[in-house]
Amino acid sequence: MILGKCPYCDGNVISKKINVKGKNIKLYSCENAKKEYDESEQYVFTADSTCRFRVYSNAFLRWNKRSFSENEMKNLLNNEQIIVRLHGKAGTKEYYKYVITDLEYGVSVLWDEEIEERA
Ligand SMILES: [Zn+2]
Repeated sequence: MILGKCPYCDGNVISKKINVKGKNIKLYSCENAKKEYDESEQYVFTADSTCRFRVYSNAFLRWNKRSFSENEMKNLLNNEQIIVRLHGKAGTKEYYKYVITDLEYGVSVLWDEEIEERA
């Protein structure tokens, strides 16, 4: 499924279901950013890859957001930034942050930008 245009090249960003360490997650990847295992079992970009833009749906797991959905990814590609809801440790309050695309890391949270709490 095509989610939108890659912000870094002319490629389409495609959603795929993948399995990582027994967990089903989604990978939103520019069609020009393909990875494979090389001879030494390193997961590297293929020789014909011209882009590096890839986002995993568990990119925000560290901040207790279980899944970054296809819709959120679409909105990010269309609007260049989106607001995501993150959580602290159990029992602490949720909070909102802006997220932008990042060529190396897929997504990047703008920690210094405050967002007014929504009513
Ligand atoms: Zn690309």
